[in-house]
Amino acid sequence: MFQYLDIGHSKYNCFIEPDTAFWALVQQDQIEKTLSQRGIFQSFAKKSWKFKKEMDALRFTQKLSAVYFNPTEKCNLNCSYCYLPEKMRKNGDSMSEERILEALEILKKYFKQTLPKGMLGEIVFHGAEPMLNQKAVFAAIEKYKNDFRFGIQTNATLLDKRAVEFLTNHHMSIGISLDAPMEGIADLTRKNWSGQGVYKKIVDAMERLRGYPNWSVISTITSKNMRYLVELVEFFHSHEVPNCLLNVLRCTMSYSWKLKPGDHIASKYFLAALDRTYELYKETGRKLIVANFANILLAIIAPTARRLMCDISPCGGGRCFFALAPNGDSFPCSEFIGLPMFKGGNIFKDKLSNILISQPFNLVTKRKVEDVESCQSCVIRNFCGSPCPAEVYEMSGSMRKKGAFCEFYKEQVHYAFRVIADGKEKSYLWDHWDKGLKKSY
Ligand code: SF4
Ligand code: SF4
Repeated sequence: MFQYLDIGHSKYNCFIEPDTAFWALVQQDQIEKTLSQRGIFQSFAKKSWKFKKEMDALRFTQKLSAVYFNPTEKCNLNCSYCYLPEKMRKNGDSMSEERILEALEILKKYFKQTLPKGMLGEIVFHGAEPMLNQKAVFAAIEKYKNDFRFGIQTNATLLDKRAVEFLTNHHMSIGISLDAPMEGIADLTRKNWSGQGVYKKIVDAMERLRGYPNWSVISTITSKNMRYLVELVEFFHSHEVPNCLLNVLRCTMSYSWKLKPGDHIASKYFLAALDRTYELYKETGRKLIVANFANILLAIIAPTARRLMCDISPCGGGRCFFALAPNGDSFPCSEFIGLPMFKGGNIFKDKLSNILISQPFNLVTKRKVEDVESCQSCVIRNFCGSPCPAEVYEMSGSMRKKGAFCEFYKEQVHYAFRVIADGKEKSYLWDHWDKGLKKSY
């Protein structure tokens, strides 16, 4: 059944059929006329089973295709909101080169059996700080360069000239982190164990990456930096960052709760930053893609073209990807690595196919937005997904509570519909985002 959604646009209103995520924008002065025409409803009724099937395939039948691979538990930083426990980051284990190769061999065999012919699984070296185990990681990339697509998420403090050369020569996707365009704010949350900030090192690494097409910067929106998001996107644009993610804080660890921004105020600054990326594009002809927002736009205009999997339910954790700890313990997502009850098994001892259907993984892979109190009747539930299960569980003790930033997600979806109503969506999306896609309606 179609439901009405007020998107805050001066000319258009939105009608959504939530189960299929099918929608229509209707001019406010045409609503009565449009609703009295039976044609569109009859045409939708004929095709709705197909849309539902497509949505169900996206939500329930995706295959594992990526692994967040933690080659060490150690980190040289002590960021205020990290989802890994401090003890782990300070004194944790690292994998030997042999162990990394052994794990990659297991994953290579698994992907060969499960992925379509010619498709490579993705390995993202993740952390803690993967570059602390650089020698072993680089040797593994060299050995398996034809067997996987590789990426790395790093705090960028160890990205010297040689490291950048290696990663870019191997065409890896490179993600780094920076929370603000000015040292005084950036260093409040991202600092080393002596409390010194690392802003300057990150900006040096950004200079080394300038011109490379496949890198991004992740910023975590907290109460400390949210006021500077407009300046932040200007800073990224001036450094020719191709993609960034402006992710609202995940409150999985209780010590991060003190940095939790208010939904309403955080969304106000976030949307102002999105406005600014649009202006920058119009002024210069060069885009800075805010990937998490671009993903919401895709969720609305081409649901199966989504690239990120936090805003769908079940989320991608444990079904599209999983996280591997240095000792082989396997968790549905990196967010769960500090939560022992979500360990689904050990890749060196258990069959991966069994880990993926283990009870701890099922807790995440079977969490549907329809089962979440106060989300089940939400009209945008299939554009939001009520993330994040790790955060929700740690904050409430239950998987059936709604996401910690519900109002933020709503504001973001309303904004996305306004962008579409104004015909501006292409300015916020990657060029050629629709290559190979077919229009179904
Ligand atoms: S919603 Fe949370 S658990 Fe799921 S993929 Fe995103 S970060 Fe991981
Ligand atoms: S968290 Fe909020 S916006 Fe998201 S599905 Fe639930 S009620 Fe809707």
